[in-house]
Amino acid sequence: MTSSTGYLDTANLKSYAKPALRIALLAVAMVWAAVAFASGSGTGWVAGTVVTEAEMATLRADSCFIPLAIDAATAARMQGKSYRANPHIKLTDLRYVRVLHYGFDGKVHRGELVCNRRIASDLCAVMRELYEARYEIERMVLIDEYDADDDASMSANNTSCFCYRKTPGGRKLSNHALGLAIDLNPRYNPFCWRDRKGNRRVQPDNGRDYADRSKRFAHKIDRTDTAYRIFIKHGFTWGGAWRSSKDYQHFEKR
Ligand SMILES: [Zn+2]
Repeated sequence: MTSSTGYLDTANLKSYAKPALRIALLAVAMVWAAVAFASGSGTGWVAGTVVTEAEMATLRADSCFIPLAIDAATAARMQGKSYRANPHIKLTDLRYVRVLHYGFDGKVHRGELVCNRRIASDLCAVMRELYEARYEIERMVLIDEYDADDDASMSANNTSCFCYRKTPGGRKLSNHALGLAIDLNPRYNPFCWRDRKGNRRVQPDNGRDYADRSKRFAHKIDRTDTAYRIFIKHGFTWGGAWRSSKDYQHFEKR
């Protein structure tokens, strides 16, 4: 805008530009929020929190259970923890999924997971069916919240999928390293095996009370369990069916 004298009237420009600038900034912020919300774990989705009844009224389940590309915010959370540069898997091979799940408190919680894109739609279908069946999962946040420490995540009974790591005590790459395996309610469904000396081992440590699978207790995965039935229906195999060791929390699809 120019004044009648032909010079730029900066005072006038300020008063004219301010509302327009505000609208432009607001539009940018809205677009940014929409992109962040739609593309990963950016603002708007705090896994581990309870969804209030008021929020449930406006939250559509359809906006969850969708495989999303790993966005910059999620990549930053994972970098140097569950993910590091390697010859086997790229971030573009992975997907981020927002999940709704019932907690042990019977309330709806926000969850999240990262998995291989090859199994992402199957895993989304499994998670949606678990939610609709009101299957109780205590906690589902990225293992990065535990600095990618599998023991810490399992002890907290955290359900998780991708983590670039070897098998416990082994030299082989875990199927979790490719995002093809998920551990469900791990404290109540521990990994049980015998070491080379024949000693019985249980992981996590606080899962020892649940290593005896002849006992009856809540959140136990066995062949009559709803989660077992749903995972198997979608082509996953169960670690509880392994012969040499038993990984009751573990489902995988290759
Ligand atoms: Zn596992």
